Amino acid sequence: APARVVVVGGGFAGASCARALAGAGGIAVTLVEPSADYVACPFSNAVIAGLRDLRRQTFEVAALARVPGLAHAPRAAVAVDADARRVRLDDGTQLAYDRLVLAPGIEVRLDAIAGYDAAAAEAMPHAWKAGSQTLALRRQLAAMPDGGVVVIAAPPNPFRCPPGPYERASLIAHFLKTHKPRAKVLILDAKDAFSKQRLFEEAWAARYPGMIEWVSLSFGGRVIEVDAAARTLVTEFGRHRADVANVIPPQRAGPIAAAAGVADASGWCPVDPVTFESRLVPEIHVIGDAAIGGAMPKSAFTANGQALVCAAAVADLLAGRASAEPKLVNTCYSLVAPDAAISIAGVYRPRDGLLAEVAGAGGTSPLGAPEAVRAAEAAYAAAWFETLTRRVYA
Ligand code: FAD
Repeated sequence: APARVVVVGGGFAGASCARALAGAGGIAVTLVEPSADYVACPFSNAVIAGLRDLRRQTFEVAALARVPGLAHAPRAAVAVDADARRVRLDDGTQLAYDRLVLAPGIEVRLDAIAGYDAAAAEAMPHAWKAGSQTLALRRQLAAMPDGGVVVIAAPPNPFRCPPGPYERASLIAHFLKTHKPRAKVLILDAKDAFSKQRLFEEAWAARYPGMIEWVSLSFGGRVIEVDAAARTLVTEFGRHRADVANVIPPQRAGPIAAAAGVADASGWCPVDPVTFESRLVPEIHVIGDAAIGGAMPKSAFTANGQALVCAAAVADLLAGRASAEPKLVNTCYSLVAPDAAISIAGVYRPRDGLLAEVAGAGGTSPLGAPEAVRAAEAAYAAAWFETLTRRVYA
């Protein structure tokens, strides 16, 4: 009988891994994902700014069942019995596995900011999972008065998509500049520095002068409480009233990770950097945002790369072969305007049990680059998204 691998989560990590495992041959793969459609986050900030339709973010998970060797279970995984090597689904079905891959993405923590519970998340959308939250934030921006204030509460590290809050601030500023030129964006940050900071700040000064204000942790940026009814955010230093509040709370691995025992006290999942096997429970692998990637940022690019490395390692383990040491790459593009982007790239390899950045291998777009360079990077960003989503979901 073929070896059985169950993959939980049909996002960039899980869907990529399931496909690659099915392609390895001699493995029966079951992809567990409750949603018929996957709504992708990259480019969802453009949806919020009214530049793009959410349909362009939406991909059919069920279509993956056409891949030979791959079955789709349209359910959620609710429990893992690691001793018996079985996953239980929400309809009671038990799936037996030889190896299990968990790729559940993130859970937005509703226990981290006082007052930010499920109801507050409707009033002050995080939009950190694409879909209805994305559209809610877009509607609020469209309805906001000119002269109003959009407050973005940015989370502490580590979190999904380190440049994401600042790309969002850029595109919201673009929307405001076009439609509500007296409005402003205030970023309240739980950090003292952020990804591509100098490039973002350069773009903001040139494109949206005086529109975006960033308050760092040391200057009272960390939001500790919200009052959704009063549209107020409370920091250690004072209160801020918002016309639109986008609260992006701290995060942790999706709940199935803790249920399976693979998440540590940080809420994330430590893994072996060659095989992505859990450090805590044997025969369970964790990839994508849920895993502790060492120096690797939590991105769709990373999720796809880790998925392919993990699939090869799982195939090797099942065949009794040793795995080669991987090298992984990440590139994150961020739009600073509809037709202008900046990027950061890195190369990573296992060192001292973690994924470490290879010194001198990566870098960011240059500061002070001409507009044509920014426009070219926006085109690369679009091409990257097209290529990745086609490779994973088509
Ligand atoms: P996800 O994409 O979240 O997929 C997890 C899947 O698992 C989901 O479909 C979920 O339904 C499923 N799942 C969860 N629990 C269970 C369960 N118990 N049973 C079954 N299924 C389950 N990255 C980039 O590379 N470039 C970008 O430009 C970029 N822009 C971004 C912009 C924004 C605003 C945001 C929020 C993110 C952005 N990202 C970007 C980051 C990227 O979206 C994530 O890093 C990526 O989605 C991680 O993939 P994943 O598969 O680990 O998790």
